[in-house]
Amino acid sequence: MPRPILASIHTTALQNNLARSRAAAPDAKAWAVVKANAYGHGIERVFEALRSADGFALLDLDEAQRIRALGWRGPILLLEGVFEARDLELCSRLELWHAVHCDEQIDMLAAHKTHVPHRVFLKMNSGMNRLGFTPERFRAAWTRLNALPQVDEISFMTHFSDADGARGIHHQMRIFNEVTRDLPGERSLSNSAATLRHMGSVALDDDDALVSDWIRPGIILYGSAPDYPEHTSADWGLLPTMTLSSKIIATQTISTGASVGYGSTFVAEHPMTIGIVACGYADGYPRVCPTGTPVLVAGQRTRLVGRVSMDMLIVDLTPLLAGGLSVGMGSEVTLWGRAGNGAVLSIDEVAQSAGTLGYELMCALAQRVPVQVQD
Ligand SMILES: *Cc1c(COP(=O)(O)O)cnc(C)c1O
Repeated sequence: MPRPILASIHTTALQNNLARSRAAAPDAKAWAVVKANAYGHGIERVFEALRSADGFALLDLDEAQRIRALGWRGPILLLEGVFEARDLELCSRLELWHAVHCDEQIDMLAAHKTHVPHRVFLKMNSGMNRLGFTPERFRAAWTRLNALPQVDEISFMTHFSDADGARGIHHQMRIFNEVTRDLPGERSLSNSAATLRHMGSVALDDDDALVSDWIRPGIILYGSAPDYPEHTSADWGLLPTMTLSSKIIATQTISTGASVGYGSTFVAEHPMTIGIVACGYADGYPRVCPTGTPVLVAGQRTRLVGRVSMDMLIVDLTPLLAGGLSVGMGSEVTLWGRAGNGAVLSIDEVAQSAGTLGYELMCALAQRVPVQVQD
């Protein structure tokens, strides 16, 4: 028998979450962001559930090829554009739309031989200071692009640094709107946080109105709240799309003063029954999760105790047994996602214990974990 660890990808939840994104921006088209192999879920596994999106956005050319291989004929957007000149050949051949964020990418386009003019998304650095033309250089970039026979339609994009937090998006919106106001073309502005938190909001004045023809939801498709813990995924009506589950493969009964795991970081303050779970950091469960991190056993909440090791971690069964539950060898363990009884342990909660975000946990699901697709 293989190790009992398993990741399940929930297709109905993906559909629900895409619908939720659309409901937040009913007039916009939606890019389903599937970079990083669909945030660790697997592009091929999420494709059917997300194919009602208006397009797929990603960064790796091989991922774009995989989506075309699945039969997708609609838009695909390369969020970082091309990395070298010959990538443009693939863009022409596969009809990929691509971001243009720097002069070098315009140089490459100017030298590119193609019969099919490209649809491009000119990217503004409106304050994130990662990719894009600064507001001062944006118009010049547009003028250059607009003169190229290799370029068909020009759309506009920018990315928000604080859509999930207190600073918000208005400072960036004001700059973006000011510079692009009279330029023709579609706009693509909103990541998940901006889609949920700002699309519905009424702008204070026209200067910082959020108009996005194309939203770019990523993390919310995968059921994680972009602004946890201010809001939970349940608050936003999002459902978990990935469950990491395993089983208890041994139990130990320990007395007061006994220690658990490497480094003896946990010491029992009373007699306990602990369960050994077939899941460790080599499966993608964060080693930094401390004692107290929530875990579901048979769909009931309990806690991690001691250090996470490579292939195993340890959970406290004492309160569950005291409550009359018969948990032990073979009991189902849910590290995050949805348990057999329907109980949900949000990936955001586990991520918070690890000092990180749901994004990182889902992307770090290890190769060795078998994955199944289910409802
Ligand atoms: C990853 C990414 C997104 C999606 O971000 P989420 O926070 O996951 O919604 C949107 N736009 C760009 C440019 C990205 O790189």
